[in-house]
Amino acid sequence: MRVAIVGAGVMGCTTALSLAARGVDVTLLERSVPGAEASSAAAGILGAQAELHRHADDVATFVAARAAWGPWARELREHTGIDVGHRVSGVLRVARTGDERAALAEEVAWQTARSLRASLLDGAAARQIEPELSPDVVAAAHFPEDAQVDPPALLRALMAAAARSSFVTVRAGATVERLVVESDRCVGVMLDGAPFRADAVVLAAGSWSSLVAGLPADMPAVRPVRGQIVLLDERPPRARTIVFGGDCYVVPRGDGRVLCGSTMEHAGFRKEVTAQGLHTILSGAIACVPSLAAAQFAGAWSNFRPHAAGDRPLIGPSPMAGLFLATGHYRNGILLSKVTADAVARVVVGPAPTG
Ligand SMILES: Cc1cc2nc3c(=O)[nH]c(=O)nc-3n(C[C@H](O)[C@H](O)[C@H](O)COP(=O)(O)OP(=O)(O)OC[C@H]3O[C@@H](n4cnc5c(N)ncnc54)[C@H](O)[C@@H]3O)c2cc1C
Repeated sequence: MRVAIVGAGVMGCTTALSLAARGVDVTLLERSVPGAEASSAAAGILGAQAELHRHADDVATFVAARAAWGPWARELREHTGIDVGHRVSGVLRVARTGDERAALAEEVAWQTARSLRASLLDGAAARQIEPELSPDVVAAAHFPEDAQVDPPALLRALMAAAARSSFVTVRAGATVERLVVESDRCVGVMLDGAPFRADAVVLAAGSWSSLVAGLPADMPAVRPVRGQIVLLDERPPRARTIVFGGDCYVVPRGDGRVLCGSTMEHAGFRKEVTAQGLHTILSGAIACVPSLAAAQFAGAWSNFRPHAAGDRPLIGPSPMAGLFLATGHYRNGILLSKVTADAVARVVVGPAPTG
């Protein structure tokens, strides 16, 4: 069986490895540099609980996605020698007002009723977990099992694993122009004016997914939502817990690097870092963790979260035979990458023969 995957972000690369583990020949088609878009730009929060927002449908998937990360990070390290920075650093979502505290109390009650570990702390207890928290924090929801990875290291590990696999071929600089469809079935893609035939095609083109010509008309559109990130260098390293406050977050890597994010902007494909973006992110981050005011500015970037109409990621079979989807993961593509890849590989390959 030969599978073509369109796009070599975290979805395309991880799906390629899941298919390769099942003995499938995979060609990863990437128009640019593998991993260079949203996947390497992400903050890398595995916020299964911080990102739930009482979506009952997501509980099992989000928690399974987070649980998959320990073994997956270990496997990547053993296989490639690259540490992807998996750390169970926990998340504190902070409140400064009584109303914010009441909202957190409801969230914690909703989660604990579903057997998830979460607690509502007063300000002093929250500062015991993260001493750098602002003194005006009156309460925090603590999700101790939420975690993080380092996305650039992750993408390097995925590419190294792909390069070592005899089942995976990576073609960088290969732009898929459109699907090749015969008798209502996707039988390959058009690449530089020539057909590339495959038994199955997986669309993993992130925010650019809807720009591939020939997609079924009833497939939900995927659109970009820009996010900006600021990188600070804290010397010596002080902050240690991921902090969410208002519409910002602070992600200490543990080695002095602190990522602060992020904006949510409908700006088309304008990959810019703006004065307003920097201002919003840095003022939000310093309000949560005041000592960051003295940290060194180390960089800033932006990229595009792939948001699917209907607010659900597109995973598995599509309305067209031969075409499978691994796209539209919006704010949680790193968290969901391994479980998505395994689910897509299972449907592409089909059930194992019985007897
Ligand atoms: C600022 C920011 C912060 C984020 N933080 C987090 C976080 O903390 N935790 C989390 O879980 N998620 C986070 N996300 C979301 C996460 O990054 C995405 O959901 C995820 O990376 C999407 O992966 P992808 O492989 O679908 O897309 P991408 O990484 O964008 O990859 C798509 C690839 O397809 C290629 N491509 C497109 N069109 C074609 C074509 N026609 N032919 C060939 N190749 C093509 C592109 O060049 C690209 O390399 C964040 C995103 C952003 C922008």
